[in-house]
Parts: sequence; C-alpha cells; structure tokens
Amino acid sequence: MNLNELLHKDELNRDDIIYLLNLTGEEDLQQLYNRADEVRSQFCGDEVHLRGIIEISNFCEQNCVYCGLRNDNDSLPRYRMTPEEVIETARTITNLGIFTIVLQSGEDAHFDSDIISYIIYQIKQKSNAAITLSLGERPFDEYRAWKIAGADRYLLKHETANPVLYESYHLKQKLSERLDHLKFLKSIGYQIGSGNLIGLPMQTIEDLADDILLCKELDLDMAAFGPFIPSPKTPYQHKTTGTSELTLKVTAVARLVLKKVHIPATTALDTIDPIGRERGLTAGANVVMPDLTPFPYRSQYQIYPDKRGSQSDPLDSAAQIKKRIEDLGRKISYKRGDSLKQDAQPSV
Ligand code: SAH
Ligand code: SF4
Repeated sequence: MNLNELLHKDELNRDDIIYLLNLTGEEDLQQLYNRADEVRSQFCGDEVHLRGIIEISNFCEQNCVYCGLRNDNDSLPRYRMTPEEVIETARTITNLGIFTIVLQSGEDAHFDSDIISYIIYQIKQKSNAAITLSLGERPFDEYRAWKIAGADRYLLKHETANPVLYESYHLKQKLSERLDHLKFLKSIGYQIGSGNLIGLPMQTIEDLADDILLCKELDLDMAAFGPFIPSPKTPYQHKTTGTSELTLKVTAVARLVLKKVHIPATTALDTIDPIGRERGLTAGANVVMPDLTPFPYRSQYQIYPDKRGSQSDPLDSAAQIKKRIEDLGRKISYKRGDSLKQDAQPSV
C-alpha cells in the first residue's frame, strides 16, 4: 500500500499509526498534513471554534514532575482569582463573541463544590456560553454538583497511555484512576476532553500511537496534543523540549483516526514554533483556546516558561489570534461549538 492509499484507509490500525508517526520526508509529511486538513474539513467544517481560558488559581496539590505549578515548586508566587474577578472575566469573553469559557487551575480544593457552582451559575445567568472545567482530578460528588450547576464539559488529559510512564510522572496517581474519572464524567453527561503531552522523557513513538488509540477508545469530544516544554524548578527542567514536527504528526494522525472530534492548535505548540497555530490548524486542528486571564495572574500561571501571549494584554493577544486565523482564510465561529457527536449529552 502506498502512502496515499494508507492516508485514505478508513480504519488505521496500530502499525499504520506507528508508520505514519515515523514519517520524515518533507513531501510525505506535507501529504499527511494535507490529508488531515481534508478530513478536518469534511467532518468538522471550516470554522475555527474559540474557547476563552480563565486560569483561576495556580495553587496545586499535585506534583506532576513536568509541571511548573507542582506543589513542591516554592519559587512560584501563588494566586487565586476572586469569584467576582472570574465572573467579570467571563463577561469580557462573551463580549468578544466567544461562547465557551474554560475555567482552569491546579488541583486546588479551595475552589470547592460551592464556589465553583456559584461561579458557573452566575456566568450562566448572563449568557448561554458553554462552560468547560479543567480543575484536575476531583471527588466525584463535586463533578456531579458542578454538572447540576450548569457545567457542560470537562478537560482532563490522560497525559500518557503508558501506565508505567504515567506513574513515573505522577508518583501518587495511577492511569487507571484517571481513566475512571474520565468515564465517570462522560457517564453523567459532560462532554469530555483529554489528550497527551508529546516528547516527554522516556516516551516512544509506540506510546504516542497508544495515546491516539486511547483517545479513540474514550470516545472523546475533544482531544488535545501539546509538546512538553521543560519548566524551571521541576525535576524535568533540563530535559529536551518536545518538537513541533512530532506534535504536528500526532495531531494529523489523530485527526485521521478520530475524525469527528474537536482538536485544538495548542498554545504550547505556538510557544515552541512561531507559526505553531497556523501549522496546527492546517494539519487537522479546528479549535484555538485564547488565554483571557487578566494581569497580574496570567504571567504567574507558569505551567511552562514563556507561554506565548502571557506577557501581552489579554485582549490584544486574543485579537492577534483572531487575525492569524482569518489570515489563514478560515472563519471564526461565534457559536458554542459543542460536541460533534450526536449522543454526547445524556442527562445527569
Ligand atoms: N491541573 C489541571 C489543569 C491545569 S494543567 C490538570 O492537570 O488537568 C493543564 C495541562 O498542562 C496538563 O494537562 C498538562 O498536559 C499541561 N502541562 C503541564 N506541564 C507542562 C509542560 N511542562 N509542558 C507542556 N504542557 C504542560
Ligand atoms: Fe497540578 Fe495540573 Fe500541573 Fe499536575 S499538570 S502539577 S495537576 S497544574
């Protein structure tokens, strides 16, 4: 089977995926990206969906070895936004015509059932924006309370599908538990997002193929693939950065495998590659997640260093992202951009 036939195969198996992830020639890679772009257009259309992120707290009880927010990092000044600041920022986001609001933080028990439910309820009183939570692994009764308060989606990356690597990155946590959280979230009606980190120490191409297959098995509504970027004051501070090329290959192959799923062109990709968003959006991605966290917090949410846009005014940064999308000839969606899967919203 030649490359063109492989790229048009309906169901790619693990060996096919590994073969595609190992492609290196410029022309072959371009053919892969072009096919992913075509499949994206066919299953998701040409509009790009925006998700406005508010990073509500950088406190974290976890110690993921790759992350700058890990609990052991004493050198990071910590902050929590007040509920009023979060609600006000959400209003700024909907005023921009962005109708998905992502509330993200470290695993911070201070933001409990009541506070998050209050924030969700207040945002929902003023707009019909979709609310995505990305607050880490939390007790199941909190997920349920937030769903009842009006949350629509939950983003919790599996990070790696290799259980041995997962435990070496997370020390106290297990991959099987993370998967149980994702399955529970789905069972109570959340649209779920997951995904991996690319270029982590010890990770192989086979592991990345398994990441893509796990995303398929989880029947995700959104799948995010971002490069690992070494963060100061973490055990992995001197490790090698994941590459833009490998991130694009994973994105493109994931589009061929997952088809009807939202895939973002990540900020991490745009941080390591000056045209990362453009390259992601033309290799299978259909979503961009602008960071609208206000100053001074946005520069303190240092999961990894020098995040693109973290030193710029949030509105300027969002305007620049919109322009870059339009310069590519793509339209921006002013709708919520819900799951592309029809059966995605069972009741609580
Ligand atoms: N605490 C929540 C949400 C914030 S972390 C959670 O862990 O789900 C959001 C994402 O940042 C993580 O899923 C991880 O994939 C990513 N991340 C963490 N450290 C990173 C690094 N050094 N480089 C790139 N992405 C990183
Ligand atoms: Fe905390 Fe999330 Fe970073 Fe892990 S990845 S240390 S849970 S913020």
